[in-house]
Parts: sequence; structure tokens; C-alpha cells
Amino acid sequence: MPLPRPTDCGATRRKLSTLPEIVEHPNWRKMVRTVQEQREWLDHLQIELTQIPAPTFQESERAQYMADRFRELGLQHVRLDKVGNALGERAGSNSHLVIVTAHLDTVAPPGVPIEVKRNNGRLCAPGISDNGAGLAAMLGIIATLQKTEVATDHSLLFAATVGEEGEGDLYGMRHLFSQPDLCRRTAGVFVLDGSATDHITVAGLGSRRFRVEITGPGGHSWSDFGRVNPILALSNAIAELSRIPLPAEPRASLNVGMIHGGTAVNAIPQSAWMKVDIRSTRAEELDRLTQALEAAVRAGVEQENKRGSGGLEAKVVPLGNRPVSELPESARILQTMREVNRHLGIRSRLECSSTDANIPLSLGIEAIATGGGGSSGDAHTLHEWYDPRGRDLGLKRLLLAILVTAGVLGEPES
Ligand SMILES: [Zn+2]
Repeated sequence: MPLPRPTDCGATRRKLSTLPEIVEHPNWRKMVRTVQEQREWLDHLQIELTQIPAPTFQESERAQYMADRFRELGLQHVRLDKVGNALGERAGSNSHLVIVTAHLDTVAPPGVPIEVKRNNGRLCAPGISDNGAGLAAMLGIIATLQKTEVATDHSLLFAATVGEEGEGDLYGMRHLFSQPDLCRRTAGVFVLDGSATDHITVAGLGSRRFRVEITGPGGHSWSDFGRVNPILALSNAIAELSRIPLPAEPRASLNVGMIHGGTAVNAIPQSAWMKVDIRSTRAEELDRLTQALEAAVRAGVEQENKRGSGGLEAKVVPLGNRPVSELPESARILQTMREVNRHLGIRSRLECSSTDANIPLSLGIEAIATGGGGSSGDAHTLHEWYDPRGRDLGLKRLLLAILVTAGVLGEPES
């Protein structure tokens, strides 16, 4: 498919950068038709890509799949970057960028076979919506722009990113935005995550994750009884954590999500560990809870060292740190989303959550995260489902918002 040339015949083309101008242009009707025509094709791609396992840190096969689709659809400079993000570009008439991203990885653990089943119009499989729906939406947007040969003023960069879920700590996004030149050129970032049109994520929920490990000498459960026990120390610390007051407004959370220790029922363990996730919309609250976690671990170990003969040690190792960030009310991207929603008769609530948008937002770059249309449920479980009915509306909403942000080139000026 040939790429549209922004400046045919060397004549200057009229720039359409308002929503009314864009929806009144004949190109928009072509795009709406294209969105409808590609429904089945998009369902098929979503099934295909969801069936490629992509646990965090093991996204390479799915990244390759996305890069192949980018190439087929005619994007330029298609490549996998140093950390494994799949990238493709669509040149505009200037070098400013509108970036569209969707994360590749899923929470389904390695080794879980993924087979998408159809059930009453729904597609069912782990990761089918999060983020099968986001990745499919990205391909739907690219295909629509390419088929209708719409030319944009700003250039578009599409990125299927690694490391959004679990302990990925947004490393794909961090790498992308570690390039000062790219940051300077970016006019707006659209993060496509999951389904629906009912939310716009405008604030990045901050989170910190830790692995707490307590080690000791260990021993025999009978002959060494009385020695310090790392599991008991860890339990003391957890009991301590459960008593930490958490504010309701601004909301904060502290979760002990994993716990492990010991090797046999008749042995005093040599080690025990837990993983803790702390979240808040305030950086100061994250600091306070981090200190509280460290204090709880110290107190838990001290208590057990006093009971036994001493010798326990504790380490609190940071696993992740997602910055707190917020889009200002006056941001252009938010005004655009609102205007597009009004035009399409959509209501979206503003949300604060932890997504790939945290990274550009924390750098002061305008970004939102939202769904790719359709509906879904049971995210992050083995029963996850996605219903593609209503996907068209989600795609139209994203296309319009992206085009208003990027600007569209109309006919040559006479
Ligand atoms: Zn997601």
C-alpha cells in the first residue's frame, strides 16, 4: 500500500485541525466505512495475537507479530528497539509526533496455554481484552488511516510496548521516553489499554513495589528449637503492616501480594520473603508508606531476634517505582477527548490509575490512557472475555482524537 504523500504536486494543502473540519471532510465518511468493513478481520487479528503468549519479560514473539503487521500495513521504519518494543512510523508533513501505544504483555503466567474460545459473540481467553483489545485497536487505527490514505500534519509513531504488567515497571515506556529528542517532538500520547469508551485515565497512580527478605541460621525443628525463625519475623512485620492507617482521601493502598518461606515442615527456615505493593495518588504518601514498611520489617525482626538467640537479617529490595503524575485540566488532549466524546454521544469518567501513560505524564508530556471500544470483564483472570460489539465506536473516538491532535491535510490550496 503506497504511503500518502503530504504535499502532492508541491502545492500547499489546507490543514484541518478542528473536529468540525475533520468530520465534515469526505475522508471521514470513508474512514467510518472502513472501520465497519474491517470488523471480522480485526477480531481475527485479536484472536491470533492473544494466542501468542506474552508474559512480562517474554513478549518477543508477540512483538515480532506486531512488527510484521506494521510492515504489512505499510508503516515506515518498522523495528524492534533495544528493550523489545515494536515500533512503526507514519510520516506527516512535519516532525512533531503523536504517539499511540498499547502494551504487549499479559499477567497470564508462562506455560498457560492460551486458546481463544467464542461464546455468544464473546471472545474468551486470558489477555483477550488486556491487552488484546488495545493492540487490536492500534492495528484497526493504522489500517483505517492507510486504506483511506489520510495525510496528517504531525507524524504518527505506533509502539507496542513491553513491561507494563506485574514487575515490568513500565520499562518499555521508560525506554521510549528516555530519548530527549522524541520527548521534545511529542505533541500527545494515546495509550490504548483494554476495552470500552467509558473512561479516560488522566492521572498516573503512583506505585512502589518491594521484595522483603528475612534470613537466619535455620535448623532442626526439634534439636534447634528456640532459634530465630524468619517466617515468624515476617509474620510479625505483616501484622504490623495490617495496623498502618491508610487515608481514604487521597486514597492509598498497601498490599502483601506474595509470601513464601521455608523448605520443610520439620526445619526452622533459613529464609522467608514477601512482595508488597504500595499505591497512592500522592508522592508524599508513597514516601510515608515506604518508611512505614521499613519500620514494620525492622520491628518484626527485632521482636523475633529478642525471642530467639538473634541472627536474623532483613533486606527491603525495591522492585518497581511508578511515578505519581497528573494531566492538567487545561491540557489540549483532554479538551480534544471531551469534544470527541460530545460529538459521538459518549460519556467517559476521568480516572486515576497506573498505566503506561504514567511515564509521559511524569515528564510533563500530554498523555491519556483509554480503552479500544467493545466491552470486557474478568480482567487478569483465566476467564477474561471481550465482546467486540461496539468496537466501531471506540475506534471512531480514537481516530478522531488522534486526527485532531495530529492535524489532517485537506485538498491543495488553489
Ligand atoms: Zn493493561
